[in-house]
Amino acid sequence: MFGFLQKVGDYTKDAVGAANYITQGLSVTFDHLRRRPITVQYPYEKLIPSERYRGRIHYEFDKCISCEVCVRVCPINLPVVDWVMNKETKKKELKNYSIDFGVCIFCGNCVEYCPTNCLSMTEEYELAAFDRHSLNYDNVALGRLPTSVTSDPAVVPLRELAYLPKGEMDPHGVDPDRARAGKLPEQVQAEMAAAAAKSAEKA
Ligand code: SF4
Ligand code: SF4
Repeated sequence: MFGFLQKVGDYTKDAVGAANYITQGLSVTFDHLRRRPITVQYPYEKLIPSERYRGRIHYEFDKCISCEVCVRVCPINLPVVDWVMNKETKKKELKNYSIDFGVCIFCGNCVEYCPTNCLSMTEEYELAAFDRHSLNYDNVALGRLPTSVTSDPAVVPLRELAYLPKGEMDPHGVDPDRARAGKLPEQVQAEMAAAAAKSAEKA
């Protein structure tokens, strides 16, 4: 009799435990059902990177003195400073400079320690390529001015997460009547179509 009661007790304990787990799981699901989405409709919408964002490095060839400090402070000795010694002037002559963004970890050490400030980190983050060798930027590619989401007419730059009200960063418990910060892709498309129609009318 005691053994039977023990089994019933164990079974009840297991059933209560299972019910607890199911409730916990469902509470997460219902919490997500209640919240607003935080999706950014990339590539039509893009968030503006923060001021100190560490994106693609910009390099100014004319300012570089070939000191190689950037190479020494880089955790993987990545920058390649290609210079030759001019025997007449007894000065270094810079021939080429390159950084391989397929290997760079964007730590910013080289930018921090460069004595002439010829390196800087930009807000450019779209570096995807089909061939990883094309990520090895030479001084010409490094010298290109960075692209900016705010200057691209095909992109809606977002300062806030678009589906949330202005200044709100937590998608949970937001009042459904509060207006969203950004525009929906349909609204953006409608605006673009209206602008195109207007310019066609003018022409
Ligand atoms: S950002 Fe860091 S890893 Fe990349 S080149 Fe500079 S020091 Fe090296
Ligand atoms: S630290 Fe600056 S100046 Fe020196 S080699 Fe590197 S980029 Fe050129």
